[in-house]
Order: sequence, then C-alpha cells, then structure tokens
Amino acid sequence: MPEGDAVHRTAARLRGALDGQVLTRSDFRVPRYATTDLSGREVLTTVSRGKHLLTRVEGGVTVHTHLRMDGSWRIMPAGRRPPPGDQVRLILACRQWQAVGVRLGMVDVVATSEEQQLVGHLGPDLLGPDWDPDEAVRRLRQAPDQTIGEALLDQRNLAGIGTIYRAETLFLRGVWPWRRVGDVEDLGALVTLAHRLLEANKSHAGTVTTGDRRPANQTWVYGRAGRPCRRCGTRISRGEMGAQSQERLILWCGGCQPG
Ligand SMILES: [Zn+2]
Repeated sequence: MPEGDAVHRTAARLRGALDGQVLTRSDFRVPRYATTDLSGREVLTTVSRGKHLLTRVEGGVTVHTHLRMDGSWRIMPAGRRPPPGDQVRLILACRQWQAVGVRLGMVDVVATSEEQQLVGHLGPDLLGPDWDPDEAVRRLRQAPDQTIGEALLDQRNLAGIGTIYRAETLFLRGVWPWRRVGDVEDLGALVTLAHRLLEANKSHAGTVTTGDRRPANQTWVYGRAGRPCRRCGTRISRGEMGAQSQERLILWCGGCQPG
C-alpha cells in the first residue's frame, strides 16, 4: 500500500505532467461521474494530503483520488493506449501527456472550496508544509488506551504512515506495537522520527530506514519476518493488529521491543 512518501512523489509526477496544461480529455470510469467532463479547463496543480491527492482544475473544481491498496497514477504520452488489463478508473489528458489512474481506491469531484470535507479530518501531514509534531502528539494522547500501533495508522492522528513506517518507527524507538499510547514514554520523539523517515524517502522510490540502500538491507523489520534482528539477532516476528476485518500487518523484534 502506498504510504505518504509514495503519494507525495505521485503528486510531484502529476504536477510535472499536468500543471498549467489544458485538459483535452477527461474520462471518468466511475459511475457517479460518468458524465463529468473537464476538457477545456486548465489544471492548476496537484497536492498531496497524507495519502490523499487533490488535483485542482480551473473553475474551482478539485479531483480527489486515493490509491488505497494498490492504485497508481501512470504518466504516459497522450494518445497512447493504457496496457490492456489495467483497471483504469480515470484519465486526465492534455496535449502532450495523459495521467492514467489505475485501480484508484477513491475518485471524487468536488468544489475546491469544499476540499476540507474530504481531508479536513486528517491529522498533521508528515510531509505537508504544515507538519506539526505537537499537534500530532496532542491527537495521539486523546486515546491513551489505544495501542500505539493502531494509533499510528489512524490518519486522524497524523497523516502519511502505513504499515512499513509503522513497523520501522516502532522498532527504532524500541516500542512494542501493542503498548498503550499512554504508556509510550516519548511520543514527541516517536512522531519526529516518523517524520524524518518519510522525509528521507520522499524523493526516491522504495523505503530505506537503515541508511543502506542495498535491496536486502533497506529495513530493520519490515519484510524480514523470521530473519535475525540486525541489532540483537532475535527472529523478527510477524502478526496482524487492528479491529476485526481491518487487521494490518505488523513486524517487530521481541528482543528490541519487549512487551
Ligand atoms: Zn532486536
């Protein structure tokens, strides 16, 4: 699932292809917007908010998309057909380029003045211009009995963390994922570390939390279930956490993150 850094990069790619361009075609393959036509309008810009993308178009219109589990935006020359089999949900085309939204988890068209209805619930954006660690901590503290693992994925607390950054951040802080938020000693250091990790990865593909970009060495615990911890040698554990039917993957080291 794309996390905040990947969505941030996607916004940059969309800006590069579409900003300042007039749409020659819009193709919404979503029943609700089947008749929506944005052609003739200039694309102003695309911004990311946590894992949400907002593409602002001339005339006060915003196209909101979310990649969810495996969605993506592909940029290709205008006029080229997307590969067969791609589940295209939306195409925004201008003279030179087209942006093809594949398997998007959400597609909405709203007035730009009403974007807050879609993203106003989000906590501080780890990669946003308004990142505010104190506000993130304040929001986390509002539910002291929640597990820290679940709280970090709750985008209302802070926006941009997915399962990879959750696992890596908790490992690096030595925090057991099921520890109560109220029992985590330094929440400020935790969210600041998460911010640093996303910042460090926002400009390149992949997630490197160890400082070592060689493919087998990029993470501490994520993708390393059953392998020895790089610090203490304990086998990395793999499990799931979250409410029933919403369980998400968690990896941790029982030695470095004792329960
Ligand atoms: Zn360890």
